Amino acid sequence: MKVLGIETSCDETGVAVYDTDTGLRAHALYSQIALHAEYGGVVPELASRDHVRKLLPLIRQTLADAGLGIDELDGVAYTAGPGLVGALLVGAGVARAVAWALDLPAVAVHHMEGHLLAPLMEDDPLGRPEPPFVALLVSGGHTQLIHVEAIGRYRLLGETLDDAAGEAFDKTAKLMGLPYPGGPQLAALAEQGRPGAFKFARPMTDRPGLDFSFSGLKTQVLLAWQGSDQSDTTRADIARGFEDAVVDTLAIKCQRALDEAGCDTLVVAGGVGANRRLRAKLQDMAARRGGRVSFPRPAFCTDNGAMIAYAGALRLQAGQHVDESVRVTPRWDMATLEAV
Ligand code: ATP
Ligand code: MG
Ligand code: FE
Repeated sequence: MKVLGIETSCDETGVAVYDTDTGLRAHALYSQIALHAEYGGVVPELASRDHVRKLLPLIRQTLADAGLGIDELDGVAYTAGPGLVGALLVGAGVARAVAWALDLPAVAVHHMEGHLLAPLMEDDPLGRPEPPFVALLVSGGHTQLIHVEAIGRYRLLGETLDDAAGEAFDKTAKLMGLPYPGGPQLAALAEQGRPGAFKFARPMTDRPGLDFSFSGLKTQVLLAWQGSDQSDTTRADIARGFEDAVVDTLAIKCQRALDEAGCDTLVVAGGVGANRRLRAKLQDMAARRGGRVSFPRPAFCTDNGAMIAYAGALRLQAGQHVDESVRVTPRWDMATLEAV
């Protein structure tokens, strides 16, 4: 089954074709970062318009790269939420139109399920992780630990009470003067910083539970930065201290979640999953437990069409699809999804 996947939930237009027989056939991504940079954040109306401009050319390019005619597709998957309503409607409208014109089934994909399943698309020497497992979703809008009982059956174990981990990276970068979106740049800077030069708290690790809180960490960094000489060396040292605090906190809670769920398999997804130190730390933790951890390749940690094509393909294969209306769900709880 060849499935066209369309992602337009925020500021990335992603398109891909996933083939359930041969795997990922092609994918293309257009990032609107430059468009939003001068505003220091995503402007919803500009995002919608740019998806309109880019989506059809990207679909043509992806089909050409896959060596497929549009009439060779067997289904269409699109991100229906959570996300910006206008941006989602562009993807939903185009997806429904393609499906209707070609008389194909279409399926509405939950963006975070897309992220969560992305690691399962990768070749892994240990084979594809099979549920039950624990998933850590660490993106720009979410920080969640989820017990994956089966594909589509997601039980929330804990989540952030304020900022998401990616949001904390971006805001911390901004307050030290790094350009938008600063998360990846802060991580790059941390590579040059000295460990232990600045020590920040590991929030909420001193009490039981699986929730997170990252907004206080940002304030600690602000105070440290304001009280420092604000040199390049200091900026790198603070970046390192901040990254170590976030990575440690995530690792402590992952370990706790695995213990509580009685699992040895951890799956990590979302933009912060691209962080090198987080990957190394969780690999170590999994190895010590005699378990395993799976990540998507770094490019599939952040938003992309491939994860939507893949999640949609699993649902279409199970016979699930939507009716002919164009519908999106900007706020959407993953626990309400149907099992596959
Ligand atoms: P959501 O999926 O919750 O709707 P989103 O789609 O905006 O949010 P993603 O695209 O998954 O989020 O990830 C983007 C986030 O990942 C940004 O906050 C960015 O700073 C962060 N990020 C990307 N690379 C790294 C890195 N190497 N280290 C730390 N953070 C990173
Ligand atoms: Mg993005
Ligand atoms: Fe995302």
